Amino acid sequence: MSQNLFETFAARMQERGDADFITTRDGRRYSHAAALAASARLAGALAALGVAPGDRVAVQVDKSPEAILLYLACLRIGGVYLPLNTGYTADEIRYFLADAEPALFVCRPAALEQARAVASETGCPAVETLGTDGDGSLMEAAERATPHDTIEPRQENDLAAILYTSGTTGRSKGAMLTHRNLGSNAATLVEAWRFTAEDRLIHALPIFHTHGLFVGCNVTLMAGSSMLFLPSFDADVIFEELPRGSVMMGVPTFYTRLIQDPRLTPEVTANMRLFVSGSAPLTAETHREFEQKSGHAILERYGMTETNMNLSNPYDGERRAGTVGMPLPGVEYRITDRETHEPLPNGEIGMLEIRGPNVFIGYWRMPEKTREELLEDGFFVTGDLAMVDERGYVHIVGRDKDMVISGGYNVYPKEVEQVIDELEGVKESAVIGVPHPDFGEGVTAVVVPEADARLAERDVIDFLKDRLAKYKQPKRVLFVDALPYNTMGKVQKNELRKIYQDIYR
Ligand code: ATP
Ligand code: MG
Repeated sequence: MSQNLFETFAARMQERGDADFITTRDGRRYSHAAALAASARLAGALAALGVAPGDRVAVQVDKSPEAILLYLACLRIGGVYLPLNTGYTADEIRYFLADAEPALFVCRPAALEQARAVASETGCPAVETLGTDGDGSLMEAAERATPHDTIEPRQENDLAAILYTSGTTGRSKGAMLTHRNLGSNAATLVEAWRFTAEDRLIHALPIFHTHGLFVGCNVTLMAGSSMLFLPSFDADVIFEELPRGSVMMGVPTFYTRLIQDPRLTPEVTANMRLFVSGSAPLTAETHREFEQKSGHAILERYGMTETNMNLSNPYDGERRAGTVGMPLPGVEYRITDRETHEPLPNGEIGMLEIRGPNVFIGYWRMPEKTREELLEDGFFVTGDLAMVDERGYVHIVGRDKDMVISGGYNVYPKEVEQVIDELEGVKESAVIGVPHPDFGEGVTAVVVPEADARLAERDVIDFLKDRLAKYKQPKRVLFVDALPYNTMGKVQKNELRKIYQDIYR
């Protein structure tokens, strides 16, 4: 029997008929039935361009409902959807096209000429844009194409998508995700977060990342609900839309901005039933302040490109600030010694490993990396350090690669950052390890002061003296106006380490 994920989506879309699927603020709207029909026409256009089952379709386009139709069309014909970050430059695109060898590259209209050049260098046979105007447009071709009404049969372990990781710790890796990976995770999330056809998701995330695409869109498709597509996060727009929405999914920076706004009240969020946060750590302080001001406890969850979602705070029951909750149904986890992979007792910090139908089948064309991170017994080594508290809630302590080893002692940056952030006048901080002649790595703090604060290095060092063990105290404190964040709200510590690599030499 075929296991194409799109079969489940299509059945639901048929059922939901004229109900909203995607709407935009400028009045554009696709019902479920309209999106289903459009996906058949677009699939016809893809087939006419020579895209066959198993072929990759690389896509670098702005967020729009049509981009989701393209994703659906790709699934329908058994293709492998490969979204690319809209921030990637021509050089980066060259790398991804050479690595993925797609049958088609769909780009933005303004980038068409450049895309054609890169495609011809890398042997990519076809380039199209998505819009309805101008030359090389897929939506236009879809109007003329014979609709591809059938759904290509796929096995559960056939690829549905290749998604490159965010590249926070090094070069992005292409995670190979199957129909089973995506389907099982969407079904699990619908159940865990109580999605129904009545839900209206306020969707302000990008759609080239697992969060906005596979959490946001797949859950909506699975539940038959609707999404309001916003190009990006804009607090003014969010406050206008909250009374009409039911769920918002966000990264922590969404919430830190909302709590600074006097418009955040229980009244404006009265129609909302769920706020979700993920992709980066949400501080306990933001969690508490949001709850105080809105009456909603944010549900924090943990996931990644390679595994979709793994852990989540409960829908019913306590949503513990500063934790990512417990495993989702079907997901197993263990916390192990970083070297031996032997499980550790509760309460100890170790490597978080995950197993389940949600876990990817490997990195595209990186067999060695795959063997290192996907163990023989099926557990995936996440690269994140974690511990479980006495109530069974998982705390993400930080990334293994960010851990600082100073004079032989392990220092977890998050712990030091939390203490620094308590100092009056500190807006936020990032702690990194920098090569040091005596200690191997020197604990180093990069601090963003509040606008009107007068802070000196000495103030921070004195503040930490009685609050942290000596080996955890930063050797240097550097002040900056802002930390380098990427679009998913993650601090790019690699960049900071590069900037400060010579300060102890
Ligand atoms: P790369 O693997 O290329 O270095 P990346 O790990 O940032 O990049 P993603 O797959 O986008 O790429 O992000 C997954 C990571 O995000 C997790 O491994 C974890 O470090 C972090 N993360 C996600 N959710 C949370 C959360 N709720 N709390 C803390 N960290 C989180
Ligand atoms: Mg990663």
